[in-house]
Amino acid sequence: MSTHAGSCHCGQVAFEVTGTFGGALVCNCSYCRRSGNMLAFTTPENFRLTTPQKDVSTYLFGKQTISHFFCANCGISTHGSGVATDGSRMVAVNLRCVPDIHLEQLEIQAFDGAKL
Ligand SMILES: [Zn+2]
Repeated sequence: MSTHAGSCHCGQVAFEVTGTFGGALVCNCSYCRRSGNMLAFTTPENFRLTTPQKDVSTYLFGKQTISHFFCANCGISTHGSGVATDGSRMVAVNLRCVPDIHLEQLEIQAFDGAKL
């Protein structure tokens, strides 16, 4: 496991995430198909904002169970959070915001979020 630095485009929202990321989930829900997120899931312990929480904007839609976080300055979707089916808190990181991850090497898993 290693720690990767990530951020939105302008840098107002930045984070560190620890883990090994060989794959990403690409979701077809109405939000992800527009934002283009490539998501990897981790625990809150492995995710740390390195910029102030106040600079993170939150978008909720549908059942409002998932918080979609983005930068209000540059508009980039950086991560999200929600509760897994077992009740544990999960963070979904947009791997597109992590420059040292080679996106073309990720194993893509399609997720049918549109059905939820
Ligand atoms: Zn930004």
